[in-house]
Amino acid sequence: MHINRRSFFKICAGGMAGTTLSLLGFAPTAALANIREYKLLRAKETRNNCTYCSVGCGMLIYSRGDGAKNAISSIYHIEGDPDHPVSRGSLCPKGAGVLDYIHSEQRLKYPEYRAPGSNEWRRISWEEAFDRIARLMKEDRDANFQQKNAQGVTVNRWPTTGMLCSSAASNETGLLDHKFARALGIVALENQARLCHGPTVSALAPSFGRGAMTNNWNDIKNANVVMIMGGNPAEAHPVGFKWVIEAKTHNKAKVIVVDPRFNRSAAVADIYAPLRAGSDVAFLMGLTNYLLQHDHIQHEYVKHYTNASLIVSEGFSFEAGLFSGYDEATQKYDKSSWHYELDANGAAKRDMTLTHPRCVLNLLKKHASRYTPEMVSRLCGTAKEDFLAICQTIASTSVPDRTATFLYALGWTHHTNGAQIIRTAAIVQLLLGNIGMPGGGINALRGHSNVQGYTDLGLLAQSLPGYLPLPSEKQTTLASYLQQATPVSPLPGQVNYWQNTDKFFVSLMKSFYGDNATAENQWGYDWLPKWDKSYDCLALADMMEQGQFNGFIIQGFNPLAAFPNKNKAFRAFSRLKYMVVIDPLSTETASFWQHHGEFNDVDPAQIQTEVFRLPSSCFAEENGSVANSSRWLQWHWAAAEPPGEALHDGKILGNIFLRLRERYRQEGGAAPEPLLAMSWNYTDPSNPEPEEVARESNGWALTDIYDDSGKLLLKKGQQISSFAELRNDGTTASGCWIYAGSWTQEGNQMARRDNADPSGLGAISGWAWAWPANRRILYNRASADPQGKAWDPQRKLIEWDGKRWQGYDVPDYPLTAAPEKQIGPFIMLPDGMGHLFALDKLADGPFPEHYEPMESPTATNPLHPEQVHSPVVRIFPHDVKTLGKADAFPYVATTYSITELFRHWTKHARLNAIAQPEQFVEIGAELAADKGISAGDSVRVSSQRGYIKAKAVVTKRLRRLTIDGRQVDTIGVPCHWGFEGATQKGFLANTLSPSVGDANSQTPEYKAFLVNVEKV
Ligand code: SF4
Repeated sequence: MHINRRSFFKICAGGMAGTTLSLLGFAPTAALANIREYKLLRAKETRNNCTYCSVGCGMLIYSRGDGAKNAISSIYHIEGDPDHPVSRGSLCPKGAGVLDYIHSEQRLKYPEYRAPGSNEWRRISWEEAFDRIARLMKEDRDANFQQKNAQGVTVNRWPTTGMLCSSAASNETGLLDHKFARALGIVALENQARLCHGPTVSALAPSFGRGAMTNNWNDIKNANVVMIMGGNPAEAHPVGFKWVIEAKTHNKAKVIVVDPRFNRSAAVADIYAPLRAGSDVAFLMGLTNYLLQHDHIQHEYVKHYTNASLIVSEGFSFEAGLFSGYDEATQKYDKSSWHYELDANGAAKRDMTLTHPRCVLNLLKKHASRYTPEMVSRLCGTAKEDFLAICQTIASTSVPDRTATFLYALGWTHHTNGAQIIRTAAIVQLLLGNIGMPGGGINALRGHSNVQGYTDLGLLAQSLPGYLPLPSEKQTTLASYLQQATPVSPLPGQVNYWQNTDKFFVSLMKSFYGDNATAENQWGYDWLPKWDKSYDCLALADMMEQGQFNGFIIQGFNPLAAFPNKNKAFRAFSRLKYMVVIDPLSTETASFWQHHGEFNDVDPAQIQTEVFRLPSSCFAEENGSVANSSRWLQWHWAAAEPPGEALHDGKILGNIFLRLRERYRQEGGAAPEPLLAMSWNYTDPSNPEPEEVARESNGWALTDIYDDSGKLLLKKGQQISSFAELRNDGTTASGCWIYAGSWTQEGNQMARRDNADPSGLGAISGWAWAWPANRRILYNRASADPQGKAWDPQRKLIEWDGKRWQGYDVPDYPLTAAPEKQIGPFIMLPDGMGHLFALDKLADGPFPEHYEPMESPTATNPLHPEQVHSPVVRIFPHDVKTLGKADAFPYVATTYSITELFRHWTKHARLNAIAQPEQFVEIGAELAADKGISAGDSVRVSSQRGYIKAKAVVTKRLRRLTIDGRQVDTIGVPCHWGFEGATQKGFLANTLSPSVGDANSQTPEYKAFLVNVEKV
């Protein structure tokens, strides 16, 4: 009898254990009475995924209590899922400790209320909570709702209450969040992506067409070179890192790590080079310059698949640190010159000989030429020989049969030029021909388990689901919105897939508003809130501090610990009228008004904010889907009920939503129409089931749909199988067009669990479902040459067989488009080309440029001393005074994560708290010697904004670097402790970081700012 591990468990769970185990020879003969019962014997086994990071490791959850009447399930064991194709049974210290999170003493069990000025929580009933919250929300909405703006345009927005959503919740909760918020007119709708991978979308979408990881975890094994920069996956994504080891072991890949700190990823690297935090663009532009100067580019790829040959408008220039079009008064660019030169027919001019002085490639050469190895060394502090060794290794992949993958995370995104760092890497990979290739790509290693999903679902201030933009108040009609949201291709014959924007948008409106959305009322266009300005997290904190904001609904988010400048966040929250926190755990945010000694030195009596703390379920207690970094939507199943009176997020939202609707029906009030028009037709509207929301997200036909010949394509009510079926005439509905195909007429595709890998390339298309259209490597048309043959026969992903494209992955390309049509592989970009020149899509320039962090240790920029910092950096005027200078704060601080802890979350799990009980900072050995600091000393680290105290770890991992002739030391600040949780109390690390952000994504700077350190 053949038995594997899975069938072994099935046999056990099937109740045959006693006899069957004997038959299998597991039963001992002697001492039977003394043996302990196998602990999983009567367990219910449930599949789920780790709730922490975006590797999305598979978990098997074992609970007891099912079956018996009135028995309550209790989870008592969790282990890695050996069938999972990414994690293959592994869990890192975070995942291994997840049982202690589920049963944490800090789990919230019943609703609580904190009255204005009070210093205690009071237990309340759910009814009391829902009623009071609905009352407060309605009062604020009625008082501050803007139905029309000063010009008389219908804007239907509620600008004084905002909502932060949890990117660890399921996609189904996310769609409910979106409907809830937009129905009420909330414009300030955000999720953790704003504070982590915002720059990823800002950079990758204009470079390639989509703002997501191009490849996937398994595919890393195919790389010949692994470049890790701006991330530390060995610690932050430990199980995903096994694919780096796989590449190194089985593909003889060279692993390169570039980081201010010699971290755990560096410990297994072939080449490690330090650089100064905040100098990444200089390093990568130096690499770009090296490739161009030494002609290490993949010529055919660059010529045919990138915009290298396109001619740029004559008005474009770059001088003294500024691109053409800069307006000093507004501190913004007029980007009209950042375009192609057009011919008489309106088509972009192209020079396939690549000799025109204004073709993109030659402009890039000129722009990059300033980044010589000497300049890189001067700005980054990296030794010239280390830099050149890295350049040579990466340049080795400019041939068709070698690839490099770039792995990055918050080390790139947490900067005032985060988007441009990623842009530079995109340029490098396009020059090398490494996009669309197995083993290539720009692989954004996402943070939270579902931050990819929450970005997909548009839970950001200016977004709608599926990367559709939320209309602005300047788009006064549907026609004007669609006209601006639908790009026109400057090259004839390209796919330009966003030309279907009207189909995606109208289907979204039908999903949102059902029968209420008609052609006559522009499909409900007026009901959507229209933005007048950005309501990103930085802006929200500022508006709150200025007293312009009243209410904050916070779901699974800890902004007191996550917003930059904790003291500013505290002042902001103190001015709110009400705060509603929905979370499985106690958080510093919910307790911001409590005095916790030096860690939170506040006076509750002075704080008038009403606070509600509502207990919610966690991942192990819900069904739903979560999108990992690979864009895989993995369905998971509940193993137990939430503890105490805790409820699912959907039930909490549903109850508040229904109460608000009822009040508006009965009492009237400001603009009830958008709220009443939103469809909420769930079987139990107070508790929408994840399965019905998932079907809604995918979408269905609203009527029988026929093709031109009269053939029935879709029956009314039928789930659509692809976004290609969506229509602009109101006959289809889809809550998130890119998720079309996730729940088809054949059922839940996200629940699939076939881990077969027929190609051996990691194209595991039967496990879960990946957006878009189950494609596992984006832009995979570029893995074949212009004639349609794989660049590398060993890495054959898709090829043209004379009639259609086929292979191991779903083609990211029209299936029957012959190569001779010369359609570009980047089908989401209007010209089909990978963008070396990003046109007018970024706020700070079409090419990347090095600018100093806002707090710079040198305060100079040798590239252009007259323009030291980004001219368009995101900063509010009253925050300028909170910036420090190097004379008082001479050291560069950089924050980061460690293996055992996940953000401010795992400190609630006993096992993780034991592993890392106490706050520490890392100090280089040279600086420690200068300051008389020894390992284990208590130190005070201060910035212009506040201070923290922690234990000193003195280390050689942080080297003293020479930057522009000066010695610069770096202090490492892990970001995990606070005044709630099972660890010893600690200071919030964001006490030190500044309120400044990236101009494109408004993502704050956490990785390069100035501090001082003293022994205490
Ligand atoms: S934290 Fe990430 S790497 Fe660790 S077990 Fe969870 S998903 Fe896997």
